[in-house]
Amino acid sequence: MSKGKVYIIGVGPGDYKLITLKAIECIARADVVVYDRLVNSKILGYAREGAELVYVGKLPDCHAVPQDKINEILVREASQGKIVARVKGGDPFVFGRGGEECESLFEKGIEFEVVPGVTSPIAVPAYAGIPVTHRDFCSSLHIITGHERSGKNESMLDYELLARLEGTLVFLMGVKNLADISSNLMRYGKDKTTPAAVIEKGTTSEQRVVTGTLEDIAARAAEAGIKSPAVTVVGKVVSLKDKLSWFNRGKLAGKRIIVTRAREQAGKLVEKIEELGGEAIEFPVIKIAKPESYVHFDRVLDDIGSFNWIVFMSVNGVDSFFSRMKTRLMDIRSLWGIKLCAVGEATAERLQDLGLNVDYMPEKFTASELLEGLLKRVEPGQKVLLARADIASRELSEGLKNSGVSYEDLVVYRTVPGGADRKDIISMLEEGRIDFITFTSSSTVRNFISIIGSNKLDTISRAKVVCIGPVTAKTAAELGIKVTSVADVYTIDGLVQKLLES
Ligand code: SAH
Repeated sequence: MSKGKVYIIGVGPGDYKLITLKAIECIARADVVVYDRLVNSKILGYAREGAELVYVGKLPDCHAVPQDKINEILVREASQGKIVARVKGGDPFVFGRGGEECESLFEKGIEFEVVPGVTSPIAVPAYAGIPVTHRDFCSSLHIITGHERSGKNESMLDYELLARLEGTLVFLMGVKNLADISSNLMRYGKDKTTPAAVIEKGTTSEQRVVTGTLEDIAARAAEAGIKSPAVTVVGKVVSLKDKLSWFNRGKLAGKRIIVTRAREQAGKLVEKIEELGGEAIEFPVIKIAKPESYVHFDRVLDDIGSFNWIVFMSVNGVDSFFSRMKTRLMDIRSLWGIKLCAVGEATAERLQDLGLNVDYMPEKFTASELLEGLLKRVEPGQKVLLARADIASRELSEGLKNSGVSYEDLVVYRTVPGGADRKDIISMLEEGRIDFITFTSSSTVRNFISIIGSNKLDTISRAKVVCIGPVTAKTAAELGIKVTSVADVYTIDGLVQKLLES
């Protein structure tokens, strides 16, 4: 049996892009991923398919899995020869109990490695425009747990000493004790006008910042209803916030947007939303799957020279088509002389990536415009291949048939319902934390409803619904969804434009 190993990994405070390359590499290598509550769910996406995911954070009844149990899990899995990724928010050694986990592995003679992470006491203030040190204001930084009850004899914190420090004080885990913390600091002489800030859910689209002074910060935070996780910063550096605040400035700042496309297709939409400062929540209701059989596909490929046109109905269609050609060691030159049609820009670009320029692309994608354009170009006696998904609309093939054009329909991939977990999405919708749901095809609408449940239409309508085009919007309306807006241009850019306007 190969030897197991545990990676103790910090993945940053919230913004999933604050993960390190090394962390991604270790998570991708793991057989088992053991993770906590504050870990962004996107990060679990780096785990390889089939890796076991073990949640050890707080359970719904609010009891965390005890530390000795976690140690036991790590030891047990690694002893079986597995690679274990122990994933933690922020940095594992900053109030992350990573040290204890390493000790227990050391005692059992299990190999481990530590992957430091971007830590919240530094990164969270940074996202609020607060540099934790600055030459004009301080020469030290102190990171303190605010978790301690501060009653006499109970606290390990020496407030007399803390109050004397000139450096920036950052308290973690201190939301509940904020009133105690600030009054203790003042009692031992810290100036009550010292600037202070509390930052909730820092580095995420839900980040909130409350500022004040040592004297009023606890009241202000309570008034704003600040909850854990939050960090509290006490020190003159807080005064820089007004000048240096930079985060959440995009036009979609603070907006949470559900993306229902298949993971393989979601990239561009997710990127655009993030560029504009929004948070894209991937909820892939569709998965791309291979055709059920390659018999028809291969027969068409064997006879590809008999076609004069190939119409690609989606980016996936291009990928599936050329991947099958590659598997069969077919040379791209076997397409020589065949004209290519792409349904829209993204599909045309994918063909271009392969060194193939399209001969026709409709200005605006509707099946009728595509049909009209094709009919103008296809010469009598020519034969058309439609490379499409199993569920694509029949409008184009019907149109070709009615016009007497010889064509063949080829299913190059299938779309099947995605295995997205609906629990989190339903509770986010119920709590009103979702601003938009985006639909990019009729099948995303249908699958979304069948995953969420048609009895949840009320919940769904708490968010605004934006559709890529009229066909998708019609399906949504038929299924009882109130559509807020429909893109004028039926592309991802058109959809994003509507997100900005709605
Ligand atoms: N190991 C972590 C800290 C774990 S202790 C790190 O290095 O960041 C948990 C505390 O971290 C929370 O109570 C809160 O004080 C702070 N914290 C973590 N993520 C945070 C976030 N996104 N926003 C604000 N505070 C956060």
